[in-house]
Amino acid sequence: MPRKILHLDLDAFFCSVEELLDPSLVGKAFAVGGSPQGRGVIASCSYAARLKGVRSAMPAGKAIQLCPELILIHHRHGLYGDYSDRVMSILRDTTPLVEQISVDEAFLDVSDLPQPLRLIAFGLQKRVADETQLPCSLGGGTNKLIAKMANDYGKKQVRTGRAPRAISIIEPGEEQAFLAPLDIQALWGFGPKTADKLRERGIFRIGQLYELSETELHSFFGNHASEILDRAKGIDSRLVYDSEHDPKSVSNETTYYSDTDDLEQISNTLRWLSDKVGYRLRKHNLAGSCVQIKIRYSDFTTITRQKMLQQPTNLDDEIFSAVTELLKSHLTADREVRLLGVGVTKLEQPAIQLSLWDNTVQKKTQLTEAIDTLKDKYGKGIIVRGSAMKTDKKEPKP
Ligand SMILES: [Mg+2]
Repeated sequence: MPRKILHLDLDAFFCSVEELLDPSLVGKAFAVGGSPQGRGVIASCSYAARLKGVRSAMPAGKAIQLCPELILIHHRHGLYGDYSDRVMSILRDTTPLVEQISVDEAFLDVSDLPQPLRLIAFGLQKRVADETQLPCSLGGGTNKLIAKMANDYGKKQVRTGRAPRAISIIEPGEEQAFLAPLDIQALWGFGPKTADKLRERGIFRIGQLYELSETELHSFFGNHASEILDRAKGIDSRLVYDSEHDPKSVSNETTYYSDTDDLEQISNTLRWLSDKVGYRLRKHNLAGSCVQIKIRYSDFTTITRQKMLQQPTNLDDEIFSAVTELLKSHLTADREVRLLGVGVTKLEQPAIQLSLWDNTVQKKTQLTEAIDTLKDKYGKGIIVRGSAMKTDKKEPKP
C-alpha cells in the first residue's frame, strides 16, 4: 500500500492573522516585517502585494519601490505562535504523526486513515478555516517530497490576489509525470545557484535529469548523484516524524471549540489526554519521570508546569493523578480555558522489575496491557472512560 502523506502550509500566515485582527486590510497590498524607513526584510506579504512582485525575504526598500502603496506592519511574535499552536493541535488531533517544520508548515502521515487523500485534505482545510478562520493549502502524495512539491505547485497556479486555498494531490504512480515538466529550480533542495549552474549546461526541466548518463550526473552532483536522481523521479522514503516524538517527550493537546471554566469538563479532558499520552508511551516502550501540563486561557496567556515523579511511568492513572495535582495548584479560578495539554518527558525504557516489588503497579500494568491489546485490535475508540465521554470535543461551535 502506498503511503498517504500531506503537506499543509498556511497561506501568507502572518498576513492572514493580521487580516483577522483588522479586516480593513483584506484585499490590500500589505506586508509584515521591514520598517517604514525601508530597512529590514519582508517576513510575509499579502496576495495583493504578491501581484505587484513583492515577495517574502525581500528587502523592505525594494518592496516599496515595486509597490509604493504597500502597508508595512510590525511583527507580533507571540500572537502568531498562538494561532500556529491552534492549527498544529488540529493536525495532531487528526494523526499523531505530525512533523511541524516551521510556524506555518507541517507534514502529516495519514496512511492509516481510510478516506482518500483528497478528502482528508479538504476536511483539514475546512476544519482549520472553521476553527481558526485561517486559509491554508495542502499538497498530497506518496511521500514528503511529492506532498511538498505538489503544494508549492498548486499554490503558484492561483493568481487571484487572494489566499490560494489550493489542494493538489498527486496520485500514486503519477510522480514522475508530475515532476518532469517542472522548472529545475522547483526540485526540493535546489537553490537558485544550483539551478543557475544547471541552466548554464542546458538543463531547464526536472525531466532532463532522467536523460543524463551516470558520468554526467556524477560530474554535476558528485556523491549526491543517485540521491538527486531519486528525488527528481519523486522517490523519497523519509518518514514523517511526530515532532514531539523526539525521544525526549510525548505530549498531546486539544483546543476547546468554546472556552470553558467548568472544572468537571477540564478534568475529563485531562483524563482523555493522559490516556492518549500513556498509550503512546507504551507503544514506544517508554516511560517518563516528568509530567507536564499546559493551560492556555481565553486571553491566550499560557502556562506550562511540571512535576517530577518518584519513578518513571507510562500508566494513564499515574499521569492523570500528577496532572490533576498540577491543575489544582496552578489553575486560576474564574478564568476560561481554551487549550489543555499533557506531556511526559525525561523518558527512558521502563524498568521491568518495577512490578516485582509493587503489587498495585503490577495490577495496573496488566490491566493497561489488556486495554491496549483491545485498542490495537479494534481501534482506539473501543475503550473510552465514562468521564472522557463528557468532553465537548465533538460539540459544534455555538
Ligand atoms: Mg505559509
